[in-house]
Amino acid sequence: MLTSPPDLALQGLAHVGETPLLCAACGSGYALRIYKRGPREPFPASVSCLGCGHWEDCSPVLTNGMVDAALEARTGRKVAADIDTFVAEWRGRIFQGELVAEFIPDDAVVMLKALHGEVSKDARRWWGGKKRAVRTRAKETTGAVKAAAKEKAGDAAGAAKSAALAADWALRTGGAGPDTAPKKPRSRCTVKGCRGGMVTLSTKVHSTTGKTSEVKIPCGVCHRRKPV
Ligand SMILES: [Zn+2]
Ligand SMILES: [Zn+2]
Repeated sequence: MLTSPPDLALQGLAHVGETPLLCAACGSGYALRIYKRGPREPFPASVSCLGCGHWEDCSPVLTNGMVDAALEARTGRKVAADIDTFVAEWRGRIFQGELVAEFIPDDAVVMLKALHGEVSKDARRWWGGKKRAVRTRAKETTGAVKAAAKEKAGDAAGAAKSAALAADWALRTGGAGPDTAPKKPRSRCTVKGCRGGMVTLSTKVHSTTGKTSEVKIPCGVCHRRKPV
């Protein structure tokens, strides 16, 4: 019985006459499910309480006929803002209340609208955060660049030195310019023991003392020997 959908899913308090319909066990009337029982109208309906789990097999106030009357009288919902209410009369008894909203297409529309609103709000928040981060980073970068520029301007000697190096390089490369040229001296030489164009050898041959000593000779492969 509990596994089948109820005939009436009450939303909030329903009333029979002036009396609120309440769970016989816990006294709450806010989560009641009504089931028709048996074939005849005057038979008592069953009431299930979702609050406490109590199952009232034979309601003292509700009959199958009242459930049917309620189903017939229910307003239903057309748009999302509607509520599903009923005021039913059965053999002189007034049964009224509200039913749990059943899903209608307009609910989807409203939900999607709300969802869309939330999504774009989130997106705005997300972008806002990103923009802030970018602004902060830009500020930091600008600051760093400014600081570097200041440092450079202050270090006139360093600037002169690099200018001199550039000029030197230009001289040696026939004016290839410092833009592409500085890469070349940085490239590693494949000759073992070559450091900056000088190869260090351990040798007895060149030693004046006859003992093993280290001799530096210009590298014949890379010719990176520093000008003396
Ligand atoms: Zn209960
Ligand atoms: Zn070399």
